[in-house]
Amino acid sequence: MKVPLLDLKAQYATIRDEINQAVMEVFDSQYFILGPKVEEFEDTVASYSGTSHAVGCASGSDALLLALMALDIGPGDEVITTPYTFFSTASCITRLGARPVFCDIKSDTCNIDPDGIEPLITEKTRAVIPVHLYGLMAEMNHINNIAKAHKIAVIEDAAQAIGAQSPDGKAGSLGHIGCFSFFPSKNLGGAGDGGMVVTCDDGLSEKLRILRVHGSKPKYYHSVIGINSRLDALQAAVLQIKLKYLDTWSKARRTNASIYKRLFAEKGLSDQLTTPIIPEGYSHIFNQFVVRANNRDSLREHLKKHNIGAEIYYPVPLHLQECFAYLGYKKGDMPVSEEAAETTLALPIYPELTDEMQEYVVETIAAFYK
Ligand SMILES: *Cc1c(COP(=O)(O)O)cnc(C)c1O
Repeated sequence: MKVPLLDLKAQYATIRDEINQAVMEVFDSQYFILGPKVEEFEDTVASYSGTSHAVGCASGSDALLLALMALDIGPGDEVITTPYTFFSTASCITRLGARPVFCDIKSDTCNIDPDGIEPLITEKTRAVIPVHLYGLMAEMNHINNIAKAHKIAVIEDAAQAIGAQSPDGKAGSLGHIGCFSFFPSKNLGGAGDGGMVVTCDDGLSEKLRILRVHGSKPKYYHSVIGINSRLDALQAAVLQIKLKYLDTWSKARRTNASIYKRLFAEKGLSDQLTTPIIPEGYSHIFNQFVVRANNRDSLREHLKKHNIGAEIYYPVPLHLQECFAYLGYKKGDMPVSEEAAETTLALPIYPELTDEMQEYVVETIAAFYK
């Protein structure tokens, strides 16, 4: 048996005709950048995420960059974020000449530890970027209270979490700005790169719309220096179709997660392997199903040998990346993130995974620990 980490062909097979039809319509219109398809999709995402504005852009990384640009973050500013995330959560900060200040994570969720934020706030701190890692929301209520008390902005990196919920609301709707990615491996993945910024703030929304088209309004008149970062009509057409299925797919991922939990419990593997938790009142969308495993690297090799895909998100925390050496962090500064980097392993969780495949994954892992 072969169990890939993700099988996009299986998903495409279920919606092939609809997608092909939508793509053909865009070709017939020959309208490729922004335009009515993108506007329609922006409206859909705004209402889906419980926000009032959605601004399409070229990627999740650009969504983060545009969010910081809209908040006028630049040289001399500090932005607090987690070191245990995808690279662009921090590179958007450094690209604008600002300084990322890392706050360690909680070991049970791998999300930023809100208790660590306040001691890091200085007079230079302008914003905090919590990441809803793997599809589970960070503790937004706690984070928002700290941010409010210190008058700093909150930008949600919801790249892995579209549709996820916390007791206070949906991913993207709780900070000043929320950022989504439509990279093909996200729960809502396009046919290439794509991203979106959401907000309930009219002023920020207007600024984001100007910034994504080189800072021009009207065309060829530039009051600010923006970038070229727009969503393609082709992506919007594909994503508009896929959004209808998103909640069903995320539910299937949750079902698969509980099947794994039951199968692992039956095997009595809890000393070797810990499955992810879902805190009370949260809805996890399981963009990744990440376990903590003893002997992780050998387990991964063993799975590979048995045709099972598994990946490490992430092997090097950002405070230890070579390009950020100038920030002055060293090994030992973020112990919880560093431990996560050595023990996390993502297992296949995609909606089309069959019971037999999951049983095979668990059997193979049990055999390894025996
Ligand atoms: C995927 C991802 C991004 C970047 O999104 P792209 O669309 O690939 O640019 C940012 N942050 C996190 C946490 C991500 O998982």
